[in-house]
Amino acid sequence: MLRSDFPILTQQVHGRQLVYFDNAATSQKPQCVIDAIGEAYSTWNANIHRGTHHLSQVATAKHEQARTILAQMIGAKDSREVLFTRGTTEGLNMLAFTFGQEFINQGDEIIVSAMEHHSNIVPWQMLCERKRAVLRVIPLRDDLTLDLQAYERMLSPRTKLVSVAHVSNVLGIINPVEEVIRLAHAHGVPVCIDGAQSAPHLPVDMQALDCDFFVCSAHKMYGPTGIGLLYGKLQWLEQLPPYQGGGEMIEHVHWSGTTYNVLPYRFEAGTPDYVGSYAWGVAAQYMQRCGLPSIADHEQDLTTYAEQQLSLIDGVRVYAAGLPKAGVLSLNVYDARGKLVHPFDIGTLLDQQGVAVRIGHHCAEPLIDALQVPGTVRVSFGMYNCRSEVDVFIAALQRALSMLR
Ligand code: PLP
Repeated sequence: MLRSDFPILTQQVHGRQLVYFDNAATSQKPQCVIDAIGEAYSTWNANIHRGTHHLSQVATAKHEQARTILAQMIGAKDSREVLFTRGTTEGLNMLAFTFGQEFINQGDEIIVSAMEHHSNIVPWQMLCERKRAVLRVIPLRDDLTLDLQAYERMLSPRTKLVSVAHVSNVLGIINPVEEVIRLAHAHGVPVCIDGAQSAPHLPVDMQALDCDFFVCSAHKMYGPTGIGLLYGKLQWLEQLPPYQGGGEMIEHVHWSGTTYNVLPYRFEAGTPDYVGSYAWGVAAQYMQRCGLPSIADHEQDLTTYAEQQLSLIDGVRVYAAGLPKAGVLSLNVYDARGKLVHPFDIGTLLDQQGVAVRIGHHCAEPLIDALQVPGTVRVSFGMYNCRSEVDVFIAALQRALSMLR
């Protein structure tokens, strides 16, 4: 990987060299991905699957090749197990709707954790309301890790699905999802892993994890916006009813009734984002060329280094300090009297120095409530970040604090 592959990173913001530490929200794109989108529209754009003409066949092949690349990247056994979605959020809504339709009844229970993103909470709340089911929440221990003993006690014949984040988008903690899955499977319960924050930072392997469903978003993985995937084991996908109706998801439509297409098309109604899938495939190959284990090691090093440097500043609290993290960490700052410095003020003063971080509840309000703060300052790394940028961030934070104090 060359930092110069990412043209956006060369710019200045407020007269300072940009330091982009908001990768958990979205990552920047290498030139090959930007070029892939231009190439698609300037050389082979045509609607896919139904065309007999040349361009349509080229476009169809590119879209299906991308599915194969992504299936291989996540270790799916069969590319039919990869359904294209608009992103993690749509994948989770799709699962909540279809799984809920088929398998959830009054009094059934679904388990999530106390550190979920809203998109792994609200679709389940909506389902529970619809079906009069119950949403249960794995609590956190004092060190902010999942309380697995409490989780084990929650599993019962009423449990129908478990859905947890692989990596917390606030804390960066890597959850022990292997254990979560093993315990659920011991009770015959399927598990969905929200991989929005793991797939960009860690090698993920569906066979090793043995999860039943997995969701992630291309835009956090150096790919384009508006596309993601829902992985599901074939034996589960085959049992789920369709999500949206329309073109592509049907076999035949008559006034007397409709029959549905085979997997994966049954879940892909309408014209898919075939330019997005192609560009995502290019991004995935770029990540593979850089080496997923090297990306993980590099980001782990940046996280550890940032934590060390932050520990030297008075009044800084890093959440889940000392725990292994996947490229994300959250902090807050307290003044000499122990009063919280509002994260918004820190975010604004960092931005004025060219450092982009995210502040707020990060779409995980229940976790932020549990931390009893109005929000956090979140620093998140991508493969192109480096230690010298951490130094710039630390100096900028110190300057911000001296102004605020
Ligand atoms: N889940 C987690 C853990 C996330 O971090 C995010 C995005 O930040 C999402 C789900 C939602 O992803 P998207 O907005 O790409 O659908």
